[in-house]
Amino acid sequence: MEFRDLKTQYNKYKTEIDLAIQKVLDNTNFIGGEEVNTLERRLAEYIGVKHCITCANGTEAMTLIMMAWDIKEGDAVFVPDFTFFSTGEVVSFRGATPIFVDVDKDTFNIDTVKLENAINKVLEEGKFTPRVIIPVDLFGLPADHIEIERIAKKYNLRIIEDGAQGFGGSINGKKACSFGDAATTSFFPAKPLGCYGDGGAIFTNNDNLANLLKSYKVHGKGDNKYDNIRIGVNSRLDSIQAAVLNVKLTAFMDHELEDVNRVYRFYTNQLRGFVEIPIIPEGYVSSFAQYTIKLKNKEKRDIVQAKLKEKHIPSMIYYVKPMHKQDAFSELEYDNHDFEVTDELCDTVLSLPMHPYLSDKDIMLIADTIKLAL
Ligand SMILES: *Cc1c(COP(=O)(O)O)cnc(C)c1O
Repeated sequence: MEFRDLKTQYNKYKTEIDLAIQKVLDNTNFIGGEEVNTLERRLAEYIGVKHCITCANGTEAMTLIMMAWDIKEGDAVFVPDFTFFSTGEVVSFRGATPIFVDVDKDTFNIDTVKLENAINKVLEEGKFTPRVIIPVDLFGLPADHIEIERIAKKYNLRIIEDGAQGFGGSINGKKACSFGDAATTSFFPAKPLGCYGDGGAIFTNNDNLANLLKSYKVHGKGDNKYDNIRIGVNSRLDSIQAAVLNVKLTAFMDHELEDVNRVYRFYTNQLRGFVEIPIIPEGYVSSFAQYTIKLKNKEKRDIVQAKLKEKHIPSMIYYVKPMHKQDAFSELEYDNHDFEVTDELCDTVLSLPMHPYLSDKDIMLIADTIKLAL
């Protein structure tokens, strides 16, 4: 059994994917060109925003936005404590200070009451200037963007929606990656929409920001890449990845998003009452980057994981360590009581195999194994 079955997906779309890659090989247009332009146009249309700017990966996507906004030393950026390292890393990479905020125990996304408290605390202390909030759509479930946008407006902060795991989700029909001032996603192979290497994209309705990003991602180009008007980076999505994504985006829209939600419902029917199952608030759709259950305590979680392993069923702990406990952030000051929920989640969560091609039979085996372990 695969944790995320990319082989079945490839075999289903082998003809189309091979053809798309072969076309790039025949044209020898390896950077930019038709594949990338088509993908950006289709992605912007699917998400419902004016601009999609592809780039090298989901981490650089966030860095590029912060370059365009000149986020730097002395600035405070609010980030959930329960996320992949990248969300905090990009802040420190700019020399700014990540302020970690605890998450909600049901949605695993940034706790908006604690977020507002954290903003007020930074303002009172006066050491850093609050600039940006980076809500994460963890495991595919959009964060509470409506409340976050209200808070951002109140304190005059900007928002980057980290939609690396959120692509495909929505709130009342409004798609993930369309919230905030700008949003990012990742095309790392295991993400909801993955390519065959690294890749990422930025989404925004802001024309100015879009123009800046197009410059920053190609050596700070002006009229062309040999006219350089600012210091930028080299951060592009290559044509082969775009060709793969054009095929996979069609599959994602046609049935994959629907199928992961079918898998979610089947899992939930099997597991309800035995473990804590994912909670999807009214009006929300998750793209289920992960299907993550919660056990009573660390001991039970570890027993369940060991039992699954015995049956050759892969499972993962996302995440073992809160952001504030990562050595790389050891110089930051924080109050240990601020992270109760994240600390508990790190001890009790377990992510099960999840992908659009997971069979009912496999789900039943997984559920039975969990029940047996308990
Ligand atoms: C994967 C991920 C990223 C980084 O994306 P890359 O393409 O691997 O750089 C950022 N944030 C979150 C929440 C992620 O899961």
